[in-house]
Amino acid sequence: LIALEGVEKWYGTFHALKNINLSVHKGEKIVLCGPSGSGKSTLIRCINRLEDIQRGRIVVEGLTLDDSGKTVDAVRREVGMVFQSFNLFPHMTIIENCMLAPMRVRAMSKADARDIATKYLGKVRIGDQADKYPAQLSGGQQQRAAIARALCMEPKVMLFDEPTSALDPEMVKEVLDTMIGLARDGMTMICVTHEMGFARQVADRVIFMASGEVIEEAQPDEFFSTPRHDRTKAFLGEIL
Ligand code: ATP
Ligand code: MG
Repeated sequence: LIALEGVEKWYGTFHALKNINLSVHKGEKIVLCGPSGSGKSTLIRCINRLEDIQRGRIVVEGLTLDDSGKTVDAVRREVGMVFQSFNLFPHMTIIENCMLAPMRVRAMSKADARDIATKYLGKVRIGDQADKYPAQLSGGQQQRAAIARALCMEPKVMLFDEPTSALDPEMVKEVLDTMIGLARDGMTMICVTHEMGFARQVADRVIFMASGEVIEEAQPDEFFSTPRHDRTKAFLGEIL
């Protein structure tokens, strides 16, 4: 579904991603972790071309991301993204936030967009919040709204960038539970998170990055019980 081959990314003279090779199969769940500044956000932002790359190749659903606007749009239709800060439009209600992309990008009628938004708001269990504005919701509800908004495009893969790290502790679980539900439904997911309970429960593979490189990747059991690399051990020592 997703393949990265020899991907190199620089920000000016700063080498942010170094020879990244990664393939993600349909239905697979990847947890990406690593210290601050290791390139996790950069990596997932490259997958839907919020960042460009200088060398290598990224293929999503058979589409090679190149400079043509057409493939970028096509890829973004297949890839849903959820950020740490929920990025909901403050002047629109929750359901309007969810209806926007289906109407603009998929040219859905207002009625169809409303139906699909209602479906996914129900799925993340905030159907009763549909007509409120983002500021009227708790952080956990806002993040679930952001997940519903991404799902309304019926993406093939969901990318999460630390979706729970801006939340108060009591709201982390409701968002993780929503993500676990998505995983159970068979969604392909790449999640940047330091929620290691989630990683253990959901991930098929855990990938550890440091200094722009993939240092280690393993199944969760193995990753936590017998990390091979010193940097992984140091990292796990700090967060567990
Ligand atoms: P965190 O855990 O803090 O979110 P991260 O692993 O997501 O970290 P990235 O945001 O991918 O790290 O950043 C990787 C490196 O690239 C950092 O050193 C950062 O300073 C640098 N970087 C990120 N975005 C830019 C940018 N737009 N311009 C220049 N440098 C950048
Ligand atoms: Mg980041």
